[in-house]
Amino acid sequence: MSIKYSSKINKIRTFALSLIFIGFIVMYIGVFFRTSMLIMTIFMILGLLFIIASTVVYFWIGMLSTKTVQVVCPTCGKTTKMLGRVDMCMYCREPLTLDPELAGKEFDEKYNRKRKKS
Ligand SMILES: [Zn+2]
Repeated sequence: MSIKYSSKINKIRTFALSLIFIGFIVMYIGVFFRTSMLIMTIFMILGLLFIIASTVVYFWIGMLSTKTVQVVCPTCGKTTKMLGRVDMCMYCREPLTLDPELAGKEFDEKYNRKRKKS
């Protein structure tokens, strides 16, 4: 898988969707252990936890969406939502910034992070 920058909301949405899939896969694996009630139950609960986690992430997206700023992309002219100081256009992946100091600089997601993890 290549690492590509994409709009943050899209990224979180992909993450939530993959959590659902992981949940179903884990539950499906549990079926193979149906001879052991305990192992099967553990897998079922684990799978359920993933699905609950994805629901929480979806809820989080909903919360984040209220904080997004709607901007009209200068490149494609569509209205896109952005989160944080720098984000990308959802349609054409044009890097956008709200901070005039960062305008013209190369897109870097680390502008959004306050602390750098070492
Ligand atoms: Zn655009």
